Amino acid sequence: MTGKFIITIDLGGTNLKLALLDLRFHILSKEVLSTQAFKKPASLIGAIADSIDNFIQTHDLSKKNILGVGLGLPGPIDVKKGLVHYFPNIPGWKDVGLKAILEKRTGLKVYLDNDANLMSLGEFRLGAARGAVNAICLTLGTGVGSGVIINRKLFRAETFAAGEAGHIPINESGPRCNCGGNACLEVYIGNHRIEAEARKVFRRNISLEELSSLAKAKNQKAIKIWLKVGRRLGVALVGMVNLLSPECVVIGGGVANAGKILFDEVRKTVYRQAMPIQAKHLSILKAELGSDAGLIGAGILVKEKGLV
Ligand SMILES: [Zn+2]
Repeated sequence: MTGKFIITIDLGGTNLKLALLDLRFHILSKEVLSTQAFKKPASLIGAIADSIDNFIQTHDLSKKNILGVGLGLPGPIDVKKGLVHYFPNIPGWKDVGLKAILEKRTGLKVYLDNDANLMSLGEFRLGAARGAVNAICLTLGTGVGSGVIINRKLFRAETFAAGEAGHIPINESGPRCNCGGNACLEVYIGNHRIEAEARKVFRRNISLEELSSLAKAKNQKAIKIWLKVGRRLGVALVGMVNLLSPECVVIGGGVANAGKILFDEVRKTVYRQAMPIQAKHLSILKAELGSDAGLIGAGILVKEKGLV
């Protein structure tokens, strides 16, 4: 192939997604690799570097065709220094200068950011929040990831740690959260919590997909669980909406597939409780880019040289 391309990577707890993008952020090709065999940071970094080299080769490209590599990572990142502070779900990482290491190994320009920030950037530029000036994007899964767009830019703060909507407490006290806090939104509406609640109610294991289908088939117990999730998410959003007055809240991730029942309850809660001017100018929308949002956001990060 000829021309310029971008490689983007979405690193999760168990696998690595690679994508080849053109400069208009169309995904031309994707690959998923398991990372479970790589326990130590050095071996995982080696696997990432090798996967980039292989990806370039299998697409009949050379390094001069690659504008850069963008990585979305599951933890707090110092975007300026290209440093991984730590990963909550991958042990062993402590202030690793991943950008410098990968640039040396691959000879390519490398840019890093938190995965939820990049998903938000993707949805903001090319997904459900396009056209907004201020937006909050949430992705609901095992954790609750989020990013905040203020005046058309990702709001990262001086620490690059801003935008953690999943760790807004919604109660004075409550279950312990992975982040070190208590009663965070994430411990109430993360996958595992919803599944645990469903297990209690139905007295058997039940997946989120099944819980959604049951609710769509008017099962009252399932409906009740989704309404509770919607209210909890809604309450947390009321606080965010009153504080930031975004025109747009975008909700994606596996849990968002519950669809209308969840969105109706979130909207009902927010429009009832948020302050009137904030509520009047707000739309609550479903994410549009699905699991590609982070890969697309990482492409934007590369093309704009990390200055997003
Ligand atoms: Zn937390």
